Amino acid sequence: MRPVEKCPTCNDPVIREELPDGSSFPFCGGCGWGADRLEAARAGELETETEGGPPSVAFVVAMWVVTLLVVVAPLVALLVASGTKLLLHYSVAMFCYLVLANTVSPAWDDTNMGLWGTRINNPFSLEDDRNRALANLALFLLPGKAVGEAVTGTYRLIRGS
Ligand SMILES: [Zn+2]
Repeated sequence: MRPVEKCPTCNDPVIREELPDGSSFPFCGGCGWGADRLEAARAGELETETEGGPPSVAFVVAMWVVTLLVVVAPLVALLVASGTKLLLHYSVAMFCYLVLANTVSPAWDDTNMGLWGTRINNPFSLEDDRNRALANLALFLLPGKAVGEAVTGTYRLIRGS
């Protein structure tokens, strides 16, 4: 079981507020610690919801460049190195990765990544290990998200909204 999170300023147990996008933010009902971060996240979410119109052409082109590097370049390298015999493995692995990257959005508390606000492991806490692992996972999934953005961005450009 996870230990109860305590407020770093007044040591009361903190409340975790879940946002609709799956991220969660700790804040303290007693002294208000973390409440501004939660409000900023809520405001940011409203902003992305009301954001309309198609993406910029430069953005979509950049996403296709990433797609080229992430999906096409390894495929070509694989074909050159070993012919078609690993093609099926590559396709299945890439498909799984892309599905995962575009369905999973890891959320973590970036104020608790390790000792003294650094990424140095805190040997007395598992929470920082978990936050670092989630941050690394998000980084690993980022190129796959770019592939998704390339496809949906192109669709939205063509549709014009
Ligand atoms: Zn507090």
